Amino acid sequence: MSGAHGKKIDPILGVETLLAPVGIPNVAATWVALSQETQPDQTLSWMLPGANSEYEIRGANLKIRQIPVDGYETVVVAEDSASQLHALIAIHDTTLGPALGGLRMWDYSSEEEALTDVLRLARGMTYKSACANTGLGGGKAVIIGDRETDLTEERFRAMGRFIETLEGRYITAEDVGIGIRELEWLREETSYVTGLSRSSGSSGNPSPFTARGVIRGLFACAEERFGTSHLDRLRYSVQGLGQVGGDVVRCLSMLGATVTVADINDERCEEYAALPGVEVVPQDEIYSVDCDVFMPCALGGVLNDDTIPLLKAQVVAGCANNQLLRSEHADALYSRGILYAPDFIINAGGIINVSVEVREQGYNERTAVRKIENIYDGLREVFETSRRENLTPAEAADRVAEFRLEQARNRNGHHVADGAPNS
Ligand code: NAD
Repeated sequence: MSGAHGKKIDPILGVETLLAPVGIPNVAATWVALSQETQPDQTLSWMLPGANSEYEIRGANLKIRQIPVDGYETVVVAEDSASQLHALIAIHDTTLGPALGGLRMWDYSSEEEALTDVLRLARGMTYKSACANTGLGGGKAVIIGDRETDLTEERFRAMGRFIETLEGRYITAEDVGIGIRELEWLREETSYVTGLSRSSGSSGNPSPFTARGVIRGLFACAEERFGTSHLDRLRYSVQGLGQVGGDVVRCLSMLGATVTVADINDERCEEYAALPGVEVVPQDEIYSVDCDVFMPCALGGVLNDDTIPLLKAQVVAGCANNQLLRSEHADALYSRGILYAPDFIINAGGIINVSVEVREQGYNERTAVRKIENIYDGLREVFETSRRENLTPAEAADRVAEFRLEQARNRNGHHVADGAPNS
């Protein structure tokens, strides 16, 4: 097995090798200390890696297994019988800083399905943060559970203890199914939580910052494809009127643009239909709207074999994560002459906001906003790389991220966290 730095990881000393880069010299001692903290049943036992190279540590009720995965620094699974917690954390790469990524709760049908998701999401966070220059690495956490029935304090406090065992190599935040209340529960057990309420000194809900970044990104797209920075002269179709999509639509409406929207929630549709320039269509008609920019702001996987042929827009630029169903759908857009703003570049406003919170200087909104403005430059760089190297924008974005990671590794793995003063 090899880690993100390309090192061979010893099957017995594997964990130690993984933790060493962030200054945890002796993993056995670390885990013993942690287990003592999580008493009281004193059943600490080590199962050194067996044939399948998994680790198992028991302390109190929290049972943690390590799963070696090629290309990932650490992947751990926790099960807690008392709270019924079953969760996974994947740390993809900490070359650029501690791994930050949201915690998701989803009703996965199996641990394998959850593992596939957490690995994909953690890697995506490394690329997103690298391109956005957040000074953070990439990671993600998922809880296997039903959002209707399993949002319990006990479960989230156990999750907090799980996060704490990684001693800050993974920092969590909100994601699908998780709100401020759940983050507050986590905070009872770990300090490695971001995106809490402003009143607690945290950076608050990231969504308005994501929306701001999307609007910034629209300028780059409009200039690249239409040679204009007059967003009001373009026609948009927006799928999803949630926290981010809703703000984006309000902003476009205020600018005087024509916006067609769809959402599965009828109340939201009614609310937005009242805004100037906004028209609602049934959800399955949103792809074929006659417009300039299609904005996926609801779900992942919406750019696929069925939907791409329907698009009349010349630009796709929205906040949804993982918009391309498969990587070849970037080629499908490219060959149809549709400019695609890679999702992890244009939707980075939220992570940028959170990254300002974890800096030593502490959170400062003006700093966050200033950095979010750079999404424009980030997209320009991607489009330029795409043109110059004859790559799709998605490939160009990966290229930019990999270049930054490589540069950092060449500096002997020194973190390049942003030390810019608050402004
Ligand atoms: P949200 O849950 O507030 O909004 C999603 C909206 O999409 C809801 O109004 C929902 O009714 C609607 N929707 C669901 N299925 C739909 C469908 N088939 N057709 C039309 N509408 C549908 O979520 P959000 O926070 O606004 O995030 C939206 C997307 O952006 C997600 O993919 C999320 O992962 C991504 N994202 C969000 C942030 C953030 O800061 N909130 C940051 C980065 C990426």
